[in-house]
Amino acid sequence: MEFQLNEEQKMLKKMVHELAEKEFRPKVAEWEAEAEHMPREYFKKLADLGLLGLPIPVEYEGQGRTAFEAILAIEELARVSIQPAMPVFESSVGPVRVIEQFGTEEQKRKYVPPVCRGESWIAVGMTEPEAGSALTDLSTRAVLDGDNYVVNGMKRFISGGGEAEVYVVYVRLSEQKGAKGIGGLIIEKGTPGFSFGKQEQFMGFRGAPSCDLIFEDCRVPKENLVVKEGDFRKLMTAFDLERCGNATMCLGIAQGALEEAMAYSQQRKQWGKEICEFQAIQSMLADMALRVEASRLLIYRATVNAAAGLPVPLEANLAKCFANQMVREVTGLALQVHGGYGYSKDYPIERMLRDGWGWGVAGGTIEIQKITIASQLLNRRFDQRK
Ligand SMILES: Cc1cc2nc3c(=O)[nH]c(=O)nc-3n(C[C@H](O)[C@H](O)[C@H](O)COP(=O)(O)OP(=O)(O)OC[C@H]3O[C@@H](n4cnc5c(N)ncnc54)[C@H](O)[C@@H]3O)c2cc1C
Repeated sequence: MEFQLNEEQKMLKKMVHELAEKEFRPKVAEWEAEAEHMPREYFKKLADLGLLGLPIPVEYEGQGRTAFEAILAIEELARVSIQPAMPVFESSVGPVRVIEQFGTEEQKRKYVPPVCRGESWIAVGMTEPEAGSALTDLSTRAVLDGDNYVVNGMKRFISGGGEAEVYVVYVRLSEQKGAKGIGGLIIEKGTPGFSFGKQEQFMGFRGAPSCDLIFEDCRVPKENLVVKEGDFRKLMTAFDLERCGNATMCLGIAQGALEEAMAYSQQRKQWGKEICEFQAIQSMLADMALRVEASRLLIYRATVNAAAGLPVPLEANLAKCFANQMVREVTGLALQVHGGYGYSKDYPIERMLRDGWGWGVAGGTIEIQKITIASQLLNRRFDQRK
């Protein structure tokens, strides 16, 4: 077992680290204050640097590398802010991978290369007002009528909503209840009958677009079916990769918070000495480092084993669930190390805490992740309805 990055991976990490420091750190406070979305020109910049579509095959204009390289890049960017990490996340472990893994050749050629070029953004629409954790209760219907599906329903809290050009939307394709009737449709922004709700005002993720997707007799060409009825499991296996990206966002935020706390503790003086000389502060720093390093190992294992494909579900779930809890604890400790200054918007810690919290809701809550982990450990299904 190898615990060292190879030379190429070290170079990638260093390049992204410098990019995050020079290009993005100076802009973060302004985007945060104005709740401004990172300008789209940066998508192009990330593409030009070879950071989009890292695990996507070269034939679809990806970088032909692996999920692990994507994870290295996401961590370095999220250390500074989740905003610049988002395009790398979306293009490497996001819903574009559903199309790349399960789509028809035509769908792959049409939708994947623009994402790798930084020209298109693909979002995923699963959650509904009445179907959050109980996702298989979703009621957005797609009824075949001639050469089109007619889609009616609503999706909630969709990251990228309004801004993304393309949506992989989970829909009910028949009267079959639960997972059996669910499949996935590709729906483009601008399709008549497809509109957006108002932008969400989340406590974190400021500037990152999110809104409802509204479908009213929206006609979608039948060739846009990407996952057929009954193949819900496929949608979920692709989502295991997204879970590794979610975990890495947490890791990046927590690493950033740890570094802030280390620096602050050596600069702030009380009782005539640097606060890092107090054992209580040392203990908090050590607790933060313990959690960050353990999380990193779980994420590395899941993504190295995934190679250019999809991860082992249990490994992805363990990595996400641990990271979701870890980032809440680590940013909380980092805030405490900063005393009153940590609670002030003049310092980045409160943003990190708010951004970090959301990942344990997005992509399935911590509680649901634990049910899934227990189910995978015991090889049993636990029906939440009975
Ligand atoms: C920042 C952010 C980004 C998101 N991005 C997207 C996106 O891009 N696309 C998308 O489709 N969705 C997205 N979501 C939605 C997210 O997936 C849902 O919010 C999440 O799955 C939980 O659903 P809910 O909010 O309806 O909560 P509910 O399901 O109502 O849960 C409420 C509480 O009950 C608990 N609970 C529910 N059932 C059980 C059970 N059986 N046992 C124990 N506890 C239970 C939950 O853990 C939670 O604590 C995003 C959400 C956030 C906050």
